[in-house]
Amino acid sequence: MTEHLDMTVLSAFLDNELESDEYVRAKRHLDDCPSCRATLAELRAISQGLQAIACAPPPAELRERLDWLFDRQPTAPGWRRWLPRSLSAAASITLGLLIGNALPGQPEVKPADHNLLAVLGSSPPGALCAHPELCYLKVNSQ
Ligand SMILES: [Zn+2]
Repeated sequence: MTEHLDMTVLSAFLDNELESDEYVRAKRHLDDCPSCRATLAELRAISQGLQAIACAPPPAELRERLDWLFDRQPTAPGWRRWLPRSLSAAASITLGLLIGNALPGQPEVKPADHNLLAVLGSSPPGALCAHPELCYLKVNSQ
């Protein structure tokens, strides 16, 4: 005799989810093995019991009581509805600000040296440019 069928195969057999060759193999084993047949019978009983629970409609009295409770539920005044949301938003903003302040700052950026930039300007800034003649267009060079 081969190994017993595991629960996955038995469950698939019960639900008719096995391929044809697997089904034939499982069926042969079940014909010869009383232990697996007993396990399959237990699985079948559990499945039928669960289906009976799932299909049972709730008692009408329970539905009526629940409807009554939901209809009688006092409505909260306006401020009691928006207060928790407002507090949550304020707490989120405060937490974001605290986390933002706790993060390390960016390195200090030094302002650019204006004298260096003046050398690159379009007009020569007097004595700052070492070769101001290079900045002028020579028109009468002949
Ligand atoms: Zn078996």
